[in-house]
Amino acid sequence: MSRLVNCPRCGKVFVYVSKRLCPECLAKEEEEFRKVKDYLWEHPDSTIEKVSEATGVSTKKILEFLREGRLMLTSNNPNIILKCERCGAPINTGRFCAECSEVIIGKRHEMPNKALEKKDIKEIGKMHTLNMIRKRK
Ligand SMILES: [Zn+2]
Ligand SMILES: [Zn+2]
Repeated sequence: MSRLVNCPRCGKVFVYVSKRLCPECLAKEEEEFRKVKDYLWEHPDSTIEKVSEATGVSTKKILEFLREGRLMLTSNNPNIILKCERCGAPINTGRFCAECSEVIIGKRHEMPNKALEKKDIKEIGKMHTLNMIRKRK
């Protein structure tokens, strides 16, 4: 079943398959994405304004790439601060930090806020080990 939709970027009508943009805009966006990615690769501490100036891609679009999780900042970029939408922690890509994404997708239950009991401390120890294992990947 095909469905006709308006491309949100250029307004052209196209047959919706699985992409939200028309094929032309999709190709343009791929091109923009590549430019931004290449520029950030060569200038990992650049500001978002500089990237935009050098690539001709709007800052809004660059942020979109980051929020979509397609583009990742190097962790030591002091000039582009992307924040977790839930807790405000600095992140490199996407919309949420690792902890918040876990809470959001429900893999982890909220930590009790009361004073720590022995068994909680054990739990934290377990979690810590888990994090270490994850980091080793
Ligand atoms: Zn289009
Ligand atoms: Zn967070």
